Amino acid sequence: MTRTLIKLGGIVISSQETYDGPSYILINDDGNIEQVGFGDYPGDARATAIVDRRHAVAIPGLVNSHGHAAMTLLRGIGDDLPLKAWLNDRVLPTEEKLTSDAVYWGTLLAAWEMIGSGTTCFTDMYMFMHDAAKAVSESGMRAVLSWGMVGFDEQGQERAIRNSREFVGRWHGGADGRITTTLGPHAPYTCPPDFLRRIAELSGELRVPVQIHLSETRVEVENSMRDWGMSPIAHVADCGLLDGPVLAAHCVHVSPEDIDLMAAKGVRVAHNPQSNLKLASGIAPIVAMHEAGLTIGLGTDGAASNNNLDMLEELRLAATLHKGVLQQATAIPAPVAFQMATEDSAKAVFLPPGHGTLRTGSSADLVLLDRRSPHFIPSHSLLSNIVYAAGEGDVLDVYVQGVPVLQNKECTTIDTERVTYEVNRIKDQLVG
Ligand SMILES: [Zn+2]
Repeated sequence: MTRTLIKLGGIVISSQETYDGPSYILINDDGNIEQVGFGDYPGDARATAIVDRRHAVAIPGLVNSHGHAAMTLLRGIGDDLPLKAWLNDRVLPTEEKLTSDAVYWGTLLAAWEMIGSGTTCFTDMYMFMHDAAKAVSESGMRAVLSWGMVGFDEQGQERAIRNSREFVGRWHGGADGRITTTLGPHAPYTCPPDFLRRIAELSGELRVPVQIHLSETRVEVENSMRDWGMSPIAHVADCGLLDGPVLAAHCVHVSPEDIDLMAAKGVRVAHNPQSNLKLASGIAPIVAMHEAGLTIGLGTDGAASNNNLDMLEELRLAATLHKGVLQQATAIPAPVAFQMATEDSAKAVFLPPGHGTLRTGSSADLVLLDRRSPHFIPSHSLLSNIVYAAGEGDVLDVYVQGVPVLQNKECTTIDTERVTYEVNRIKDQLVG
């Protein structure tokens, strides 16, 4: 049995437990954390490999709770446009040209970017998902994947259900358990009520959760009131969609009644502040949702609306944005923001308990940040350094399930030169 001992200069076990100083993590053969401790490791003899990172701080791997990985291919394709024009005039016409090959390379590009900025698990809702899953499998990342479902007519609905059923059957629990799946109805305005009802039933039958975009823009809510006489949240509840486990992305325009309904139904939320700002959608009432007891994860959304997949940046934005909006400096303090990006994101995307922390028994999904960086000097509080000062450049090493996928800032699983070449080739096809 092999055991890897990482000697560290600090560990953030969770938002509530931090070791600042010499400390260690022992990882066993199964990729789980066997022991985590403060001070010197009591017996090097049990470790078969020793990694000296006494200049680094370990944190739980960041969990990106909402996105569309291969949209990296569309990075910068429709800036400075509102959601409707962005989606209809730029994104959809370009997406029509996407192929399985493009999604494979676009997902690898996303994985490269996410690993390099400290993300170990991401959520995806897109097309050609077998190719996305293959990219995830090769990258070594953990992911929660869904085949995006849109169904305006019977034929489209049947196709979406067939794709999802087949995808879940093939990939749920795949890549040594690193891949799990959900159903991914795009939104109530692209999935009519009968279709949403069928998806709710399918979720129960396949025993997989649902992820969906909800109440992203004011116009979406106005149209829902016009068409169904109720908000998008109440409408999908009426279709039975909230009776099973659901992750709702955005929830920017939600009323106090919506929040109560979401709390009663245990809906999880993916908060994507950067994307909501860039598409001028608004700012989700995260403080009110948090007070109502909702589980809120953080996400970047796709690179066509962010335009990067940097969760450290998203974390800092989530911790500062709501202070400014509410003019309340105590809103979303550093530990709450950190928990959103780690443990709560893991819960939001339906990972088993323990994910998003570095507690004994958890999967060794962890990120080592360079304490020698100016962002960590001085250090009055490690969590403060991480949430308010650290950046992507501080990420040294990343482990997923005990396996290093980034070492000394170099991807060990992805041929980044090849990805660069292939994505540039695909870009010419998309715009040609
Ligand atoms: Zn999205």
